[in-house]
Parts: sequence; C-alpha cells; structure tokens
Amino acid sequence: VFKVRKKLVVGNWKMNGGLKRNAALLAGLAACGNREGVDVVVCPPYPYLAQAVAAVKGAGVAVGGQDLCAFKDGAYTGEVSASMLLDLGCAWVIVGHSERRSLFGEADAVVAAKVQAALDAGLSPILCVGESLAQREAGEAEAVVCSQLDHVVDVLGAERFAGVVVAYEPVWAIGTGKTASPEQAQGMHREIRMHLERRGVAAEGVKILYGGSVTAANASQLFAEPDIDGALVGGASLVADSFSSICAAA
Ligand code: PGA
Repeated sequence: VFKVRKKLVVGNWKMNGGLKRNAALLAGLAACGNREGVDVVVCPPYPYLAQAVAAVKGAGVAVGGQDLCAFKDGAYTGEVSASMLLDLGCAWVIVGHSERRSLFGEADAVVAAKVQAALDAGLSPILCVGESLAQREAGEAEAVVCSQLDHVVDVLGAERFAGVVVAYEPVWAIGTGKTASPEQAQGMHREIRMHLERRGVAAEGVKILYGGSVTAANASQLFAEPDIDGALVGGASLVADSFSSICAAA
C-alpha cells in the first residue's frame, strides 16, 4: 500500500558561512526539527559539517554534504569521500547541483557515479536536475530533465533508484528570485514521476523536491501541489527565521 510521502526540506548553504555566523544560524534551527510532517536537513560547507552535527544534536535536524567524491579514500587531493561524510555524522548528500554541473564541469556520468557511491556508503543522495532558460524556451525542458534522470537510472537500475530523492531545480530559478510557478513546478514534477514510472522505478514513493528561489512567502503554495514533496532551499536557508517558516509550511 502506498503511504503518503513525508515532506522534506533541505537547506543548501552553498559556499557561505563562518564559525560564528553558523553558530547563530544553527541555534535558530532548533525550532525546525521534530515536527510531525516534515524531515529537515541542513547542508553546510565541508569544513563546518562537524560543527553543524554537534549543534543540531537532539534537535531533530539532520546534516548533509553538498557534494562528494565518487572514489573510495585514497590519493585524490582536495576531495571528500562518502565514508568521511558518514564518519562525521551526515546522513544525506546533495549530488549534481547545477552549480557543480556548470561551474565545475560535472558531466552526467560523474553525477551518476556519485549517486551510486552515496548509496553504496549508506548515504541518502539528493539528485539535482533542471533545465536552463534557453532549454526551456526551446521547449526542451522535459527532455533535458528526463535525460539527466536516465543517466542515473541506467547506472543504478530501477530498484536502487527508489532510494534517491530528486530535486527539480530549474537553473533560471536558482538565486534569481524568479521562482517557478506552482503550476510550472507541479507540471515538471508530474513529468518526472511519470518518466521514472516508465523506467520501472516505484515512483509513487520517490520524493521530488522543488528548488529555486523558495522563500517563506511562496513555500506553502508550492507544497500544496500533489507532486511537490518539499524543497531544496539556498538563499533562504541562511536566515533562520526564513528557513524555519519554510519548514513550518511543509
Ligand atoms: P536558491 O538556491 O534557493 O538560492 O534559489 C536553491 C539551490 O540552488 O539549491
């Protein structure tokens, strides 16, 4: 029997933070956790993961990495492995964020390998997909997103993909203040779910988060859509009050 998907709100701090500022922000997040209908995750930069894990202990807030290396520990200067994230107390990891794809040249094959490495280690991967403005205007949005998903389904297989959380983040909505309308987001979320179903994934159980200029003001409208199961929040996750309001809306 299909059970209702519990909402999930994930804060992606990106490359922001500092020990002092983090302490204040993390203290402000205590109100977000231990809510009945929503799981909350915060993803600080690597150097602050231990600080975050210690600060949210007992608060019902989980911690995740923003990326990982697909390789096992070894001679990979500058990289961080899945087992290190686990060792630090992370349960989650963001994979394939559009900033990784566009600024750091991460191809679909790399993203797929990272999702696999996360699952192999016992981390829950949050796989980001999304089209650019040019791709949307060319009518290619669905095809782009489905292709990004296919690369991962091809590597993992349909059964294992059930352990992946998908985050639909249209690139034109990230950090721009231009949120996708609830109808636009719902349309793509439905398409993602149907595509996964076509690929043999038990898609009714897969959480699909929306990301891209989510704020306290627009979160509840987005969360009201049947296929929007939560949010991946960038800018607004750096303000405790805003992030708390988004969690409360879920
Ligand atoms: P934003 O970022 O909320 O600042 O638009 C979202 C994301 O990139 O995950």
